[in-house]
Amino acid sequence: MIELKNVSKIYTQSGNASIGIHNISLSFNKGEIVAITGASGSGKSTLLNVICGVDTYEEGEIYYNKEETSFFDTNDMDIFRRKYVSFIYQNYNIIDSYTVLENVMVPLLIDGKSEKEARKRALELIDKVGLAKRANHKGSKLSGGEKQRCVIARALANDAPILACDEPTGNLDSKTGSEIIKLLKEVASDKLLLIVTHNYDQVKDIVTRCITLKDGEVINDTNNVENIILDDDLDLDNTEITKKVLFNLSLKNIKNTPKKTIFLLLVMMVFSFIVLFLYSSSYTAAKEAEYNSLSSYRNTLVDKGIIYSKDGREIKDLNLDGVEYYNNAFYEEEYGRIELGNESVQAVISNHLPKSYTKMRGSLPSSNREAFIIFTSDYYNNYDSALGSEIYFEGQSFTVVGYAQFNSKEKMGYSYIYTKADLRAMNNYTLQNNSRLIIDGVKKHMAYDSSLPKDTIKIRTYKTIDKNTLRLILADKYEYDLSKANIVIEQSDYESISFNLTDFIESQVFEISFYGNTDSVSKKASSLGYNTLFPAKAGIITISFSYITFVILTGLSTIAIIVALFVSYVILSRIYQSRRKDYSILRSLGLVKKHMSHVVNMEVFVLMITSSILSLIIFIVLGLTIPFFNTRLQAFNVFFIIIYFILMLLFGFYISKRFNRKLFEFSVSKSIREVA
Ligand code: ADP
Ligand code: MG
Repeated sequence: MIELKNVSKIYTQSGNASIGIHNISLSFNKGEIVAITGASGSGKSTLLNVICGVDTYEEGEIYYNKEETSFFDTNDMDIFRRKYVSFIYQNYNIIDSYTVLENVMVPLLIDGKSEKEARKRALELIDKVGLAKRANHKGSKLSGGEKQRCVIARALANDAPILACDEPTGNLDSKTGSEIIKLLKEVASDKLLLIVTHNYDQVKDIVTRCITLKDGEVINDTNNVENIILDDDLDLDNTEITKKVLFNLSLKNIKNTPKKTIFLLLVMMVFSFIVLFLYSSSYTAAKEAEYNSLSSYRNTLVDKGIIYSKDGREIKDLNLDGVEYYNNAFYEEEYGRIELGNESVQAVISNHLPKSYTKMRGSLPSSNREAFIIFTSDYYNNYDSALGSEIYFEGQSFTVVGYAQFNSKEKMGYSYIYTKADLRAMNNYTLQNNSRLIIDGVKKHMAYDSSLPKDTIKIRTYKTIDKNTLRLILADKYEYDLSKANIVIEQSDYESISFNLTDFIESQVFEISFYGNTDSVSKKASSLGYNTLFPAKAGIITISFSYITFVILTGLSTIAIIVALFVSYVILSRIYQSRRKDYSILRSLGLVKKHMSHVVNMEVFVLMITSSILSLIIFIVLGLTIPFFNTRLQAFNVFFIIIYFILMLLFGFYISKRFNRKLFEFSVSKSIREVA
């Protein structure tokens, strides 16, 4: 069945060559039970490995039946081992996390048997090796003798014609050792059983032949086969192992090592949580930066434009035909009431949106008949009842389509009502808000006071002021000619400035907000030397503090994600290293690189998806309960979620790829020998 002709194997290691076996010619037939003996280092293992296709050889030829193996490529060799050889090693090469039954089932499943068939056959074999009572015990719970029985049952399941044993009883006491040898004889019928041992006495009763090695050469062979019996040709057709079988192996690996799995999940969850957190923080910071950089034009509608003059001169002669809406009016407050069930809340029509809110429902107004309300207190808890209700101001009715609420901790805060026009005219508020009166070169705040006569500025002060030195700057941009204004100076113990300049300011146009037909307006404006600005589209136009914060935060986030990636990678690869023995065993059972990559990939895939989903859920739950996380939820949209999962999967595949590479940087022989 097997014939070796002048086979030599030389190990070269860091320049030194040492002889594994030298010039060996041997033949083996089915049904033989062969002991291979000799002192330690005499080449027994090398010979066995070369015969079984675990190791390569440098010189000579080996024939399996009629086929000469030097033409075999790696793939042929893999298939040959899977179909023709079962290995039994000193170190009980079973997967500790699998039960006896699962261990024995592996080769049957790989061979394409159904789960049911495999189970039935495995149980028969387990019974045959006397382990029936232990069938559902984990490998780690077995004694050495039991482990070896399990390995023998698995070798039988493999049903290969060659049983290769390297010191199978080396770790067993002599009584158990003898039992195992007896068992080997029982099951070996019509197979070629090769037993490497330095304890010939233990096997002498069962063997049909003994080969003794010394320094890599055969010094005695009790019965070299003269007439080699050739069976049929080798069948190296590749019965492809199905994805389903591999996937089930992945699931089994995940299921059978719950502690490792939970730990892996935790590490991955921490990593994905960090990604979610950092990303959403950067997003929030970016929004903040954009927002702050447009401090004069907060919360503006997307298609709103602003026309202003570069030099602060009045805007005249600008024909705004075709513009859907425009406004150069000064800001005014109107008071009204909102009914909330039985209660009613005082409200102010406003065009100033607060910066942050804790809760938002409904939508922004899409017409001037619709209203959006901002509640600045959390005194009432039935704000939802305002949605859809009709409210009345100045004889006009509005439908409430949405509201936002922010907790000012005030018992009775104001409520603000916005219509679409209010949102469009949003910058007018800031016009008032940023108004400064410059007295003796010092900018002073001023307050709007509707009780003053029109076109009046009232300055209370204890100083003497020269009216001619006063300048009025609106919105930090526009200087108004105060010669027509009525300036009242009152002596007082404290300083304050109030004004009512509505008519005065309205008589001059310095800034126009408009909505719609943006292109033609821009053209008209620039032909007259005015500037146009689209606040919502302007994006980050000035480098503000929060813009820098955003850049720093994004940079730090990227570094943090890389660090987290690295740490998770190190932890994960440690865990995977600890599974290395199991993977090597699967390899020795005929799962080649491609298959193993599949198993590892799918394991990582399942764990990564699970942990990404769990982290996402936790993040969302935190977001719905804790305000700190709530603001970050804004970052979550479909696009982001897709990117997130892609990122996680890429990370997963990176890990499994690296691990696969580590696992396979050794030849199959080395990783199998490692098990031995
Ligand atoms: P045995 O199994 O009889 O103890 P081995 O077959 O393991 O002997 O080793 C035979 C010779 O080959 C020894 O001299 C050993 O040092 C050498 N050898 C075995 N494996 C390797 C290896 N992987 N690299 C280098 N030398 C090796
Ligand atoms: Mg050895």
